[in-house]
Amino acid sequence: MKFSNGDSNRKKISIIVPFYNESESITFFYEALCPIFNNACDLDFEVVCIDDGSNDDTLNKLISITEKDSRFNIIELSRNFGKEAALTAGIDKSIGDAIIPIDADLQDPPELILEMIKEWKKGAEVVLARRVDRRSDSFFKRITAQLFYRFHNQFSSIKIPDNVGDFRLMDRIAVDALKQIPEKQRFMKGLFAWIGFKTVTIDYARNPRISGTTKFSGWKLWNFALEGITSFSTIPLRFWTYIGGLGAVVTFFYALFIVTKTLIYGIDLPGYASLLVVILFFSCLQLISLGMLGEYIGRIYMETKHRPIYLIRKHYGNTNES
Ligand code: UDP
Ligand code: MG
Repeated sequence: MKFSNGDSNRKKISIIVPFYNESESITFFYEALCPIFNNACDLDFEVVCIDDGSNDDTLNKLISITEKDSRFNIIELSRNFGKEAALTAGIDKSIGDAIIPIDADLQDPPELILEMIKEWKKGAEVVLARRVDRRSDSFFKRITAQLFYRFHNQFSSIKIPDNVGDFRLMDRIAVDALKQIPEKQRFMKGLFAWIGFKTVTIDYARNPRISGTTKFSGWKLWNFALEGITSFSTIPLRFWTYIGGLGAVVTFFYALFIVTKTLIYGIDLPGYASLLVVILFFSCLQLISLGMLGEYIGRIYMETKHRPIYLIRKHYGNTNES
């Protein structure tokens, strides 16, 4: 990779920022980002902002930034498609030699961008930012995140690195690889891990949100976790085969026991309660396994519709038409 100060050879970095009702954070975000550009004056920057169907003042504020700063451009989505889709839109649109997805709420410190670029210049194709200090996240979020990573990595052959979010640098070669993945339901953390490439990790402490509140409720996070596990592993499906097998073995020995007991002691009528418990228990197991099957079938169904991942209402700013 060659870095030159000559204009035609200048490398470009695309910063990709999803915005969903972030009107209060935008000014802080802009002010935090500008010094970074000034510090990396051997590089060009573009900032691809995705307005993910915000219903506050986000779009207007972004437009006013685009008008005064030509590095910024906006993709306005037709509705709220979710962060994963918004990121995909930004990645598709970006033209930089490397991209950096970053949250709008300054939880991902922009200063780290310079460190990432340093590693990139040394030859890394992916630079991960690992949160070593998550004290700014709630206790519930920390515990559930930890459980998720442990559970996911146990079941999936693709290991998601612990405490690494979407904040990272990816060289164009990795971005092009990512763009080849056609699946519609995009669990970005998993897809990022799936593509591989030469990876370097740097550590950072996660800041609290600059303003506003998180857009991910407990229920949304639970669905997100299900999405992650079902996207990358079929072990939850296979699990029920083993449970069924184990149940059959236990039932066989129990049947032997009952037959022997009946032969020796004769017929023993009471047993209503135990019968009911066994029936209820196995009915529930069957329902759970059906539900699990349903999770996968639902995903196959959604995938076969081939709907686009996002729809764009309008582009603002420098549209990079090429
Ligand atoms: N976001 C988005 N669409 C959504 C939800 C969130 O584009 O449906 C953006 C949000 O504006 C922010 C980033 O994704 O820039 C991370 O969201 P948030 O800070 O709420 O998540 P958390 O940091 O709590 O995981
Ligand atoms: Mg956040």
